[in-house]
Amino acid sequence: MLTIPQKLIDKLQQAQHLVILTGAGVSAESGIPTFRDTLTGLWENFDAEQLACEDGFLADPALVWGWYEWRRHRVLKAQPNPAHQTIAQLAERVPKLTLITQNVDDLQERAGNQNVLHLHGSLHHPRCFACEEPYVFPELDEAIRAIQLKESRIEPPRCHRCGGFVRPGVIWFGEMLPSEVWDQALAACLQCDLLLIVGTSGLVWPAAELPYKADSAGACVVQINPTITSFNGVAKFNLNGKAGEVLPRLYSAAFVDKTLEC
Ligand SMILES: [Zn+2]
Repeated sequence: MLTIPQKLIDKLQQAQHLVILTGAGVSAESGIPTFRDTLTGLWENFDAEQLACEDGFLADPALVWGWYEWRRHRVLKAQPNPAHQTIAQLAERVPKLTLITQNVDDLQERAGNQNVLHLHGSLHHPRCFACEEPYVFPELDEAIRAIQLKESRIEPPRCHRCGGFVRPGVIWFGEMLPSEVWDQALAACLQCDLLLIVGTSGLVWPAAELPYKADSAGACVVQINPTITSFNGVAKFNLNGKAGEVLPRLYSAAFVDKTLEC
């Protein structure tokens, strides 16, 4: 049984600005395959780099759009898990919470988390390739039906403003992170007093840089991951386990058990 250190419980209870940085591990617990693991079935003969880049989209828009639509469909069928839900509960308990994610799904929002900083964009907010006009999916669109028919290639919708192809709203290889989102994430890490790393192993930069920024600015960094990662050095506390089990235990130790004792 995982024991939560009392010093960490104190830190969480006293935190004025809590930052939570989440990664693929959190969504994986809802059954969302990690980026590499999406290359199965219809897509097993492709490289992620080939599908997730501008050149790939220009070469074959329907193939790339089809892959992202398949991924979006997986997300729509999935449900938020206790990790997502606990983060929403934590937001009610601390004066300020900033949620930064590398995930491109909407599970955090569906669990009730507002203003999520999506460092790598979102499957759910595509835009025009040419003019960047946002595109809103219809309630039940043809793409979803096509996926149900197991077609890999799906023609992207057209921009209602300029007629250009709509592209996925995620950050591709070779693209910069959205600067406004990055600036907000970095500012939060420099201002926070406590940062929780949840379900991310620190291999993807620049997102992996954020805990080091928080640490050097004086925040306490905590890691919640099933195994040892590159964050073990920077984390003052390492809680080994699944996000959907450790986060509720941490929350309960700091806020629920305490209430019962009073
Ligand atoms: Zn356009």
